[in-house]
Amino acid sequence: MSDTIKMNKIPCLDLKGQHKQIKAEIFEAFEKVYENTAFSGGPFVEEFEKGFAAYCGTKYAVGVNNGTTALQLAMLALGIGQGDEVIVPANTFIATAWGVSHVGATPVFVDCTADTWEIDVTKIEEKITSKTKAIIGVHLYGQPFDLDAVNALCKKHNLFLVEDAAQAQGARYKGTEVGGVGEMACFSFYPGKNLGACGEAGGLTTNNEAYYTHLQSLRNHGCVVRYYHDEIGYNMRMGGLEGASLTVKLRYLEGWNNRRREIAKRYHNEITNPKVKLQVQPEWADSIYHLFVVTTEDRDAMMKYMNEHNIFPALHYPVPCHLQKAYDHLGYKHGDFPHSEYLAEHCLSLPMYAELTDDEVSHVIATINNY
Ligand SMILES: *Cc1c(COP(=O)(O)O)cnc(C)c1O
Repeated sequence: MSDTIKMNKIPCLDLKGQHKQIKAEIFEAFEKVYENTAFSGGPFVEEFEKGFAAYCGTKYAVGVNNGTTALQLAMLALGIGQGDEVIVPANTFIATAWGVSHVGATPVFVDCTADTWEIDVTKIEEKITSKTKAIIGVHLYGQPFDLDAVNALCKKHNLFLVEDAAQAQGARYKGTEVGGVGEMACFSFYPGKNLGACGEAGGLTTNNEAYYTHLQSLRNHGCVVRYYHDEIGYNMRMGGLEGASLTVKLRYLEGWNNRRREIAKRYHNEITNPKVKLQVQPEWADSIYHLFVVTTEDRDAMMKYMNEHNIFPALHYPVPCHLQKAYDHLGYKHGDFPHSEYLAEHCLSLPMYAELTDDEVSHVIATINNY
């Protein structure tokens, strides 16, 4: 039946609906920043930091200019650099590994599991060497990885745990918001994330005051007192307009996440085509569905079929980190991480954003089931 309804194009993500809804509030917030000329760091960033720390249930949050620099700053604050190794899942957005490479350390990749597609905890220990300093776990697609299991390994081997929560603002692990288990957690507020700034932005959360103080200095030219530089620092502050837009959007985040959960529930309950495999969710994982990834054997044909029905899924991600050209020098090859490689070749991200209508969701489901 839904085939007979004329549908607009349904992309994987459409940011327009969200921004239309909150335009007046955002512009009002921008005006305040403008009148205060508080464009770099400043009170509007601080307000967001307080709000975001409270939302995540952590003591501190530090706003920075994007999620990639948040990861780099985490490595710097932990004293990780040249000669060190950091364990990273092969199935993630490449920026997880950039954080490690940008401080001169080496990312050491680990495969994901065959069904949750999150880091395979049973494959970590064999990668730990005397050079390993940390594990970066990724709450990929908005679904928490097994924090307790990875944390236990970190404790056993005396490693730091960093959460890459770039896709998981508000996701819960065993009932608690992610971002407070590791030494620190890194967030992206790239516009396309569940909580996205009107511009580029990122942040870190931590419960450790020393890290908090150090991160604030590192992002601001290595100084606490202006023009006195205690260490080599960086210019990685968050902008005031970004901070102000995030404060507005933070008020909506839980509602938006819950709408995504509703859509995901329908996908889970109503997609019945046996050719399509959905991500397995352990009972302790409460995802915010940044992405809704499925796999199917004949991915390209199915994508074409969906396009013909005005649905435009995306691929997250078509090449796993260890096979990216940028990491040729690390010597990985095809076959090293079969689950990540399978996923790259068979993944498909279904439309997922809070403003999808029930009819649009029905159309996506019907199209998949008819395929
Ligand atoms: C988006 C993302 C990042 C990087 O964030 P940017 O703000 O784009 O720099 C890092 N890790 C993951 C898993 C991401 O999805």
